Amino acid sequence: MDSVLLDSLDRPLRDLRISVTDRCNFRCTYCMPAEIFGERYTFLPREEILTFEEIERLVCVMAPLGVRKLRITGGEPLLRHGLHELVRQLSAIEGVDDLALTTNGTLLERMAGQLRREGLGRLTVSLDSLDPEVFSRLNGGKLSLDRVLSGVEAAERAGFGSIKINCVVQKGVNDHTLLDLARHFKGSGHIVRFIEFMDVGTRNGWELGQVVPAAEILSQIEAEFPLEPLESSYPGEVARRWGYRDGEGEIGIITSVSNPFCGGCTRARLTTDGQLVTCLFASGGVDLRTPLREGASDDELRATISGIWSRRSDRYSEERTEGLGANRPDRVEMYQIGG
Ligand code: SAM
Ligand code: SF4
Ligand code: SF4
Repeated sequence: MDSVLLDSLDRPLRDLRISVTDRCNFRCTYCMPAEIFGERYTFLPREEILTFEEIERLVCVMAPLGVRKLRITGGEPLLRHGLHELVRQLSAIEGVDDLALTTNGTLLERMAGQLRREGLGRLTVSLDSLDPEVFSRLNGGKLSLDRVLSGVEAAERAGFGSIKINCVVQKGVNDHTLLDLARHFKGSGHIVRFIEFMDVGTRNGWELGQVVPAAEILSQIEAEFPLEPLESSYPGEVARRWGYRDGEGEIGIITSVSNPFCGGCTRARLTTDGQLVTCLFASGGVDLRTPLREGASDDELRATISGIWSRRSDRYSEERTEGLGANRPDRVEMYQIGG
C-alpha cells in the first residue's frame, strides 16, 4: 500500500538518489574542479562508505514510506567495485518499481551488459558536448569522447532503450555546441536533456551570468528543428518535454534556475557515507550510518527517516528565484550527492 508520508509542504517521499562513491575519473570544472580535487585530495576511507548491505537495508526501510524510484549515482558510480551486485539487490526490493543510474559513460562499454542483466532499468549518460575540445576542457582532460560514445552504443546493444543524455549548459563554454548534440541523437530513440547550470556546492564559482535560460536553449534548437510541447510523462517530472514536429523523438530542458520546480520535488538523497539529504542545496544531512551500525531496528530507522521527511521544508531554487537563496555558503557538493 502507498504511504502517505508528506513533508511540511505536502510533498510525498517517492525518489531516492543513492551516491555509491565520492570518487570520479573525470574532473568536471563545475563539479570536481582539478585545482581542488588533485592528487592530494583525500576521499572517504572505505570504512566510512556504506556497504551494499547497508544501502539495501536503508532502501528496504524506506520503501514502505513511499520510495518507489531509485537512482544510483556518485561521483562516478561505475567506479564502485562490484556495482552489479548492488543493482541485483536493489532491483529485488519489494515496492521499488524503477531503478536507474547516472554515469559519465566511460566504463559502460565493459559494464552495460552485466548491469542490464542484473536488473538496471534505465540509464542516464552525461555528455556536455560532442566537440572533443570542449568535452575535454569541461571534464578536466580525462578520457576521450569516443569512450563515452562507445559506452552509449554498448548500452544500446545491452538493451537499454531511451537513454537520457544529460548536458549541463554553460554560457560561453558549450552553448555553441547544443545543436550538434541534438542533431546527433535525433531519431535515435534517446533523449537529450539540457540542464541549466546550477549553483550546487561551493566550489564551481557559479554566477547567474553563466546560466543559459531554457528559453534560449529552446530557440537555438528550434532554429533548425521545429518543436512542440509535450505533456509530462508523470507528476513531478523535472524536465520539460519538447517533441520534434517531424516525429523523430524529443528533448528535455531542466529549468532548475529559470523556472524551479520545488513544489513537486519528491526526492531524497543518500550520501556515500550514509547521510540523508533532503535538498540538492542543503547544508548537510542527517547521519543514518551511526544508528544503522549501532544496531537500530528497522522501526527505529523508519521513525528517524519519517521525522526528517515530515519536517522537510526545502525549496531552495524557488527561494533563489525570489532573491532569498544566495546567502547559503555551506551547501553540500554535487559529487557527494550525485545530482
Ligand atoms: N558521474 C556521474 C555523471 O557525471 O553522470 C554521476 C554524478 S554527476 C554529479 C550527476 C549529474 O549532475 C551529471 O549529469 C552532471 O552533469 C550534473 N551536474 C554536476 N554539477 C552540476 C551543476 N553545477 N549544475 C547542473 N548539473 C550538474
Ligand atoms: Fe565526475 Fe559526474 Fe562530477 Fe563530472 S559531474 S566530475 S563525471 S561526478
Ligand atoms: Fe528539490 Fe531542493 Fe531542487 Fe527544490 S531546490 S527542486 S527542493 S532539490
